[in-house]
Amino acid sequence: MSSSILQPDEHVLTTLEKDGSRRWLFPKLSRGYYWRVRQLVGFLLIAVFVIIPHLKSNGKPLFLLDITQRKFILFGTTFLPTDTLMMALLMVSLFLGIFLLTAIFGRVWCGWACPQTVYLEFVYRPIERFFLGTTGRGGVPSKKVAPWRYAAMYLAFFVISLGLAHTFLAYFVGVDRLQVWVTQSPLEHPGPFVVMAFTTVLMMFDFCFFREQMCLIACPYGRFQSVLLDRNSLIVAYDRNRGEPRGHVSKSLPVVDNQLGDCVDCGLCVKTCPTGIDIRDGLQMECIHCTQCIDACNDVMTRVNRPQGLIRYSSQNQVDGQKSSMIRARVVIYPLMLTIFLGLFFWNLSQLKSFNATLLRNFGLPFTVTEEGLIANSLRIRIVNRLETEDQFTISVVSPPEVKMDVENPVTIAADKDQMVSVYVTAPKSSFKVGQISAEFLIQSQAGDQRKVQCLLLGP
Ligand code: SF4
Ligand code: SF4
Repeated sequence: MSSSILQPDEHVLTTLEKDGSRRWLFPKLSRGYYWRVRQLVGFLLIAVFVIIPHLKSNGKPLFLLDITQRKFILFGTTFLPTDTLMMALLMVSLFLGIFLLTAIFGRVWCGWACPQTVYLEFVYRPIERFFLGTTGRGGVPSKKVAPWRYAAMYLAFFVISLGLAHTFLAYFVGVDRLQVWVTQSPLEHPGPFVVMAFTTVLMMFDFCFFREQMCLIACPYGRFQSVLLDRNSLIVAYDRNRGEPRGHVSKSLPVVDNQLGDCVDCGLCVKTCPTGIDIRDGLQMECIHCTQCIDACNDVMTRVNRPQGLIRYSSQNQVDGQKSSMIRARVVIYPLMLTIFLGLFFWNLSQLKSFNATLLRNFGLPFTVTEEGLIANSLRIRIVNRLETEDQFTISVVSPPEVKMDVENPVTIAADKDQMVSVYVTAPKSSFKVGQISAEFLIQSQAGDQRKVQCLLLGP
């Protein structure tokens, strides 16, 4: 079978050789202005990522996504599975925020703040460059690197991945539980130990092997770029009008050759790209807007005495010499929708009390008749204690006065737990109009909150 059958006619992936094997990337480091600012931002974000699980608000973690206890704590407020509406409002707001950010600033998240980029470019790659002897310049390491250097590098990767896995899991289990586990033997908590080991292996796999593949083939955000960006969004762009036709210059600089554009075809923008693309081919899905090609090209332009900015932050319209506008439909609609959804979220948040109460009808007959001739309805009240401490609840009838209630009062519910309370309600037959009567119940907590719930009692 001819090998050409397997060889695609056009470019598929920058990290794929023609025979289908992986092309490993060792991007050349370009230590320009953007690199220094990104490095600073990256270290700040790493510090924030490590510190957040240790911060508390109202005695609770600032952020905790506790899957085992089925609760989510944000800025000291606990959200339970019953808070679906608020979670939905928060998620929609988050997505709208991402849409807006992308519409204005392009993939600024990918290049500047995504943990994948931050940890790979500012932690793992610098360690790799240190052990492989390419510190400060990056690029392909020599083939004569001693085996002990690889061993030491992977040991360092393992230690960092272990720390990263612990930090990551602290967001799901909390630092208090994590500290207990860390000081105990793994045999005392085999489940969490396996999760921790698995997460560490995942980190190793991602940052040592998978790397840019995460952005190229796994991350859904990159796939959405074509619909999230428009011709006015901020992108890292090559100025084709200025750069083409590209061509090499001789060593005697500066060169004046009116036939050529400013691109000297040095290829450094490609060699420095962590996803291996050529920005001169235009905006591509693989571009994570890391700005390394800007730094590389600015350095080249300085050396050949030409103005910087051949590759720069711009919009597609600007580099094409067309009018670019900040104000367009999506930049107006997204903030409007974001304001509405966030407004609804905060309004709901302001209505939150220390407990939730929902009244439900019991299964079976809609009503029964007691020996005394009273009409009885069997109900259930689901009470959710949102406090971090145990609380007591008392249930009573508010109206109408002739409705009597048989319930076990008070009800004690543990912290962050819910309980279904059975309520047996009776009323004289004469109270019912057209087979029903409206009743109101009051639930009071020892903590000082109260809620009223309404119900239609059914009768003859
Ligand atoms: S770094 Fe600049 S000059 Fe060199 S090839 Fe890329 S665009 Fe052209
Ligand atoms: S093209 Fe430039 S900005 Fe885009 S990923 Fe490559 S180096 Fe980064």
